[in-house]
Amino acid sequence: MSEEIRTEEKEKKLEEIKKEAEERACAFQKVLYFIEEFLAGPMCGKCYPCSLGTAEAGIRLNKIKKHPGSFSDADLQALKRIGLNMREGSFCKKGRDTGNFIVDILANSAREFEQHVSGVCQANECISLLEYSINPGLCVMCGECSAACKHDAITGEKREKYLSGYLPFEIRQARCVKCGECVAVCPTGAIELISVVMEELINE
Ligand code: SF4
Ligand code: SF4
Ligand code: SF4
Repeated sequence: MSEEIRTEEKEKKLEEIKKEAEERACAFQKVLYFIEEFLAGPMCGKCYPCSLGTAEAGIRLNKIKKHPGSFSDADLQALKRIGLNMREGSFCKKGRDTGNFIVDILANSAREFEQHVSGVCQANECISLLEYSINPGLCVMCGECSAACKHDAITGEKREKYLSGYLPFEIRQARCVKCGECVAVCPTGAIELISVVMEELINE
């Protein structure tokens, strides 16, 4: 296979990654997906601005997944610097295009990134910033969610006909692994994904 054909395949792969990243609603998830897929595929490691830059970007972006509270303004500034360095100093088009993607998305979605620093994902795609919660007004106490949960994370007493005094079911957040299986079985749509930060503000 010629060098030219190999290059075309890699360029195409980068375009595919970009297209798939754009399918996400959350700007943060777009850039995280792009960087992780670039690191796993087209990034060849032959130059420092690109190889070190994408590795550091991946570490900083993954904070939202692993330690959401530690993602800070300093991470945002570092991402901007990485994007600019990659755009200016990468050896090949793949690195420069990836730098451009980072720079453009940070510029076009600045407000959304600032919200993530505050712990809010308005697109509801950053699962570490969200939690499942039962809307008490919609819960009919059927117990389907509790039966479906493999982690014993839902408490409540199933309602019996002609008896009263039942309380809505509740999710114990400490046990919930956010698998979403309870959502699929709830007949009334009572189980919702809500922002952890918003929930804390409401409960204050
Ligand atoms: S810019 Fe190109 S050559 Fe440099 S590490 Fe990235 S993919 Fe490899
Ligand atoms: S499945 Fe839905 S309606 Fe039934 S107990 Fe659970 S939250 Fe309430
Ligand atoms: S999201 Fe998964 S772990 Fe959490 S309460 Fe629902 S079924 Fe249980």
